[in-house]
Amino acid sequence: MGIEHEHVHDLIGVGIGPFNLSLAALLDQIPEVDAVFFEQREGFDWHPGMLIDGTRMQVPFLADLVTMADPMSPYSFLNYLTEHNRMYRFYFLQRLEIPRNEYNHYCQWAVNKLESCRFNHRVVGLVHDENEEVFRVKVLNLKTEQTETYLAKNLVLGTGSIPSMPKSFQELEGENLFHTSEFITHQERCRKAKSITLVGSGQSAAEVFRELLREQGENGYRLDWITRSKGFSSMEESQLSLEHFSPDYVDYFYQLPQEKKDQVFAGQELLYKGISSHTITDIYDLLYEYSLGGQSLDVGLQVLTEVSSMEKLGDGYRLKCHQWQQEADFTHDSQVVIVGTGYRPNIPEFVHELGDYLQWDDCNRYIVDSDYRLKLGKDVPNQIYVHSGISHSHGVGSTNLGLAVQRNKIIINHLLGKPYYPMSKQSIFQKFSGKE
Ligand SMILES: Cc1cc2nc3c(=O)[nH]c(=O)nc-3n(C[C@H](O)[C@H](O)[C@H](O)COP(=O)(O)OP(=O)(O)OC[C@H]3O[C@@H](n4cnc5c(N)ncnc54)[C@H](O)[C@@H]3O)c2cc1C
Repeated sequence: MGIEHEHVHDLIGVGIGPFNLSLAALLDQIPEVDAVFFEQREGFDWHPGMLIDGTRMQVPFLADLVTMADPMSPYSFLNYLTEHNRMYRFYFLQRLEIPRNEYNHYCQWAVNKLESCRFNHRVVGLVHDENEEVFRVKVLNLKTEQTETYLAKNLVLGTGSIPSMPKSFQELEGENLFHTSEFITHQERCRKAKSITLVGSGQSAAEVFRELLREQGENGYRLDWITRSKGFSSMEESQLSLEHFSPDYVDYFYQLPQEKKDQVFAGQELLYKGISSHTITDIYDLLYEYSLGGQSLDVGLQVLTEVSSMEKLGDGYRLKCHQWQQEADFTHDSQVVIVGTGYRPNIPEFVHELGDYLQWDDCNRYIVDSDYRLKLGKDVPNQIYVHSGISHSHGVGSTNLGLAVQRNKIIINHLLGKPYYPMSKQSIFQKFSGKE
């Protein structure tokens, strides 16, 4: 039996990524809500394996932890700059997108000021106590290895996403085969490799490819990039396309029937799965420079090709490739293989174990209310708010940092039972609905 705390919190947060951190920062200014947030990592670290020097945020700095709700908050990015005496440097930078490393540092700065954030704590279990009308949350303290039970009236799940890799590749995983999410850990190994192949053509794969291409001259490896997509396509980044990441589009998408939502979302890949045009430009510039004067490149870019399986070959791998348009098979050998096959929502096992307590759809996905509450199977006053695994209900902007504060405003208003934050309507230029 571990420690049982008697105190009942208004809210317990599971996970401290940017979404729950934003909630913690906003709630810090609202003393009537007693909240505590648990994170299994030792400290805040934002996708550390992808903190490649020179990479930038894909959203303007205004998508910080608080500004969209409370520009006067002490947790704003501008206050972070002020406290670090960087305001003039940022002013002369004249750019909205800050380095990814700086965003990470900004979040760490905010975490250090927030008493509600507890690290080294993994939430491992959850039960609803109907008599007491509380959640009993089992938390493993990773330092003491003791399990403690905390009580809360409400929960918020911000468990983010986890790297996704085909099962057959996972069996071969090691120093010479890894996911892009671990690139920084293996970068030194890459520098000594004879040949490196990247699989996949999303933003992460492109950023890793660009970095490896930059360093190819000094390290001398062969570099290949293989994707089953039709091309190394750029993301839709025009202002009117970006309006899909607005509260208005979330509201429009939410009211569509589920079948229609699934259809629409499947057709929106280029809003979030392609490559930023500036990353493609950097890669093309490098390729152009390297080929000056007719120099031959030790680089290969292969589209329309699925890596269907892989096997060990010496200290490297043999990739079985299938060009699906021509229906042609070929093999490709590489010492190091980096898999950029994206991420999937991280829904902890204890959520599935809640079973009938929650409502699930035909595809075994939890049903989410418009205000980010999981639909419960019972009429109880306790709520589970959710940030992760909601693209089926709330659409393409679900993981976009530009919508984190908006979502937290909605959660806080619901939690307080009053419109603490006023909500504006028609915040963008275009209209999605054909109804009045
Ligand atoms: C490399 C990369 C770059 C990105 N760049 C951008 C960008 O520029 N702009 C943008 O809008 N979006 C970006 N995204 C998408 C998205 O914004 C990020 O994935 C963001 O980190 C999501 O935040 P989160 O809080 O939902 O989850 P995460 O950041 O994934 O954090 C979840 C946290 O929960 C913790 N956790 C999980 N389970 C438990 C548990 N049981 N107990 C305790 N803790 C737990 C995890 O350890 C983790 O720290 C990027 C994604 C990636 C992968």
